[in-house]
Amino acid sequence: MIETDILIIGAGPCGLFTVFEAGLLKLRCHLVDALPQPGGQLTEIYPKKPIYDIPGFPEVLAGDLIEHLMKQAEPFKPGFTLGERAEKLEKTEDGKFLLTTSRGTVHKAPVVAIAGGLGCFEPRKPPIANISDFEDKGIEYIVRDPNFYKGKRVVISGGGDSALDWTNYLANGVAAEVSLVHRSKSFRGHPDSVQKVLDMAAAGKIKLYTDAEVTGVGGNGVLKDITLQHTDASTTNIATDHWLPLFGLSPKLGPLAEWGLNIDKNSIEVNTFDYSTNVDGVYAIGDINTYPGKLKLILCGFHEATLMVQSAFKRIYPDKNYVLKYTTVNGVTGF
Ligand SMILES: Cc1cc2nc3c(=O)[nH]c(=O)nc-3n(C[C@H](O)[C@H](O)[C@H](O)COP(=O)(O)OP(=O)(O)OC[C@H]3O[C@@H](n4cnc5c(N)ncnc54)[C@H](O)[C@@H]3O)c2cc1C
Repeated sequence: MIETDILIIGAGPCGLFTVFEAGLLKLRCHLVDALPQPGGQLTEIYPKKPIYDIPGFPEVLAGDLIEHLMKQAEPFKPGFTLGERAEKLEKTEDGKFLLTTSRGTVHKAPVVAIAGGLGCFEPRKPPIANISDFEDKGIEYIVRDPNFYKGKRVVISGGGDSALDWTNYLANGVAAEVSLVHRSKSFRGHPDSVQKVLDMAAAGKIKLYTDAEVTGVGGNGVLKDITLQHTDASTTNIATDHWLPLFGLSPKLGPLAEWGLNIDKNSIEVNTFDYSTNVDGVYAIGDINTYPGKLKLILCGFHEATLMVQSAFKRIYPDKNYVLKYTTVNGVTGF
């Protein structure tokens, strides 16, 4: 059994920053994440995108921000249980919590901080019977590393920002050939990105198929081609190395929804005094929580983590008095 002071569910940016803030109070943390690596949405969905609204960083790639957060947490030696979903939460007689994961790993802590973001997110998959035969063999739902597509033929499907942004990015000197397929002529993405895509299509830099969708995939072990069906019922076959259906992620709270927490539209209701939930000893921070005026931004999650650990400290050490000291005065002393 893994024992710690604060058990954090979700190793996204807010979970990682909690380790640092808790460490300043000499509280140890252990993180559990369903994904095989830390970083949450930033690592999984947009590692190479620049973020512009992190205080002190005029521009930082999402993947680099996670590296910095890992480094900042390092002195406090966080533990990780990765690639395992938090499934069952029980209260023990001594007032602590037992958390069991999908692989049966058991964790014990007096405080649980849920930093589960969008929950366990799954890509929205197109309804094509044999699609799973080619997943990670030419079909990817998320662009993890754009260099993976260097010199390759790529077909992208979708009409939102993700599809438009990756079309723009990959068509500019990365992929050998880029086609964008969308089922209508109007796009949901940012007007600037839409214009860029239309300009590239007009200049012959990409192939644009509107009023069409991919209805078939074929190959021999790996993806070789896809079939487009147009609204006039005609079809087109395209030879390709990769197909990226970028239809977004469908967020699912998953097991957290069964833990007796007050839930409002897939988010956990919290008290903004300390981001506590209705279950004593369980807190929720970052994208997963909701309260009047909530903004799903990384910097707001950092603030929530900072206040939350103060309350956690009082819960764990009710008789100790904590006096806030600046890091400029005390420095950072790890474990
Ligand atoms: C394309 C895009 C661009 C964005 N740009 C910006 C931006 O410029 N600025 C900004 O501030 N924000 C931006 N955001 C939003 C930002 O990414 C989120 O606010 C941030 O990721 C929230 O962090 P988090 O730690 O709360 O959750 P997440 O990053 O979502 O991490 C949550 C983690 O919890 C895990 N998890 C969930 N349930 C379980 C479970 N039951 N068991 C185990 N693990 C679980 C998930 O696997 C995930 O790794 C952007 C988001 C997207 C998609």
